[in-house]
Amino acid sequence: MQAELQRDFHYSGPIQFSGIRGDRLRACLGCIRFNTCSVTENADRECRQIVRSIIRKNPDAYVIVTGCYAQLQPDEIASIEGVDLVLGANEKFRLFDYIENLEKKDVSCIFRTEHENIEGIGEAFSADTDSRTRAFLKIQDGCDYKCSFCTIPLARGRSRSLPMERVIENARRLIDAGYKEIVLTGVNTGDYDFENMGLIDVMLNLEKLNIPRIRVSSIEPNLITDDIIELVASSNKFCKHFHIPLQSGDPDILRSMRRRYGTEQYSELISKINSRIPEAGIGVDVITGFPGETEDRFTNTFDFIDSLQISYLHVFTYSERRDTDAAMMTGRVDVSKRRARNEILRNLSAKKKFEFYSRFAGAEAQVLFESAKDNGTIEGYTSNYIRVRSDNAKAFANNIASVILKNPVGRDIVDCELLSFEQTLI
Ligand code: SF4
Repeated sequence: MQAELQRDFHYSGPIQFSGIRGDRLRACLGCIRFNTCSVTENADRECRQIVRSIIRKNPDAYVIVTGCYAQLQPDEIASIEGVDLVLGANEKFRLFDYIENLEKKDVSCIFRTEHENIEGIGEAFSADTDSRTRAFLKIQDGCDYKCSFCTIPLARGRSRSLPMERVIENARRLIDAGYKEIVLTGVNTGDYDFENMGLIDVMLNLEKLNIPRIRVSSIEPNLITDDIIELVASSNKFCKHFHIPLQSGDPDILRSMRRRYGTEQYSELISKINSRIPEAGIGVDVITGFPGETEDRFTNTFDFIDSLQISYLHVFTYSERRDTDAAMMTGRVDVSKRRARNEILRNLSAKKKFEFYSRFAGAEAQVLFESAKDNGTIEGYTSNYIRVRSDNAKAFANNIASVILKNPVGRDIVDCELLSFEQTLI
């Protein structure tokens, strides 16, 4: 969750919530906006806790809550004492239309459109560091799929895509601002569809721009076409990195999740990517403890993932979400078992990552370094998503350097030896 601070209606930019000191917050606020997430039941709980705690410390602040949780459970948020305004997915883009003044009242107001009618795409960009290294460019929002565990279609509405000219214009703005890597994002990015142009057309257009690196965030496996693999293979701008949700390696669970592929199709895709791009980094999302996941079915998932040539996992523990079909299914798995399985898959992920990183020990790679850390080190990613560390912080910051990768230290990062670096003049 992010808290955005506004005073006298002047936007002061997003500030990471965890970085705000309470006394500063008190001093500078007229208004606090919480942009919430609702990816799990846990996220909802954390949102409520944070909102309550900030209100306690800032009883006079005018409090606005937006984001997925606000769209899905507006009454729940509005019932928190001290919340003044709850805005749904459509309304959050017209924040100032809903604020008359900053006077607190006894009741909170809710403005929210039903999910079928959500439209528009917030064209905000975000960056993952305070440097100008990497920016996220949103090209699509919403989702038309109906995975049985997911509330995103209810929170974000139907799939819609940013017009191509806006995508290009926004990418140019990021390049002009000095970013070296653009990450294409969306709720279902592979489903980009504007006037019969798909994700491949976005990629072809962006490839012509003057940017060293472009990375595509998660794409559903059924939407990764041969064209996309071919472009990533041949391009010197597109990162050799795919993030491909799997969710389960058991065919019955996949069906019950209403995913649009089977295990065979998935493993063929992974083989195809690896044979065309042998150095590709491949990340995989997986959920543990979905209803009906017996020991045997979990073993199927473990064995299936173990058999794939992939480089890391993102492991999520299943949690029941209101208004989803999965929440009504029989065969619930004990929460402690869900967590234990999560741990098992995290260990598998660490093994996969270590094997992947070790394959490149001694190899040359280009690393886009981020900003220097206080301890004088600096970190960055290779094109295929190996996390790399160097002591030569000053020279590398926000630049691409050629390095020789060493053996992985621990399992999450590798040291390197500098070969050369060029100041990228963009
Ligand atoms: S494709 Fe992703 S966003 Fe869409 S319903 Fe399935 S899990 Fe949710």
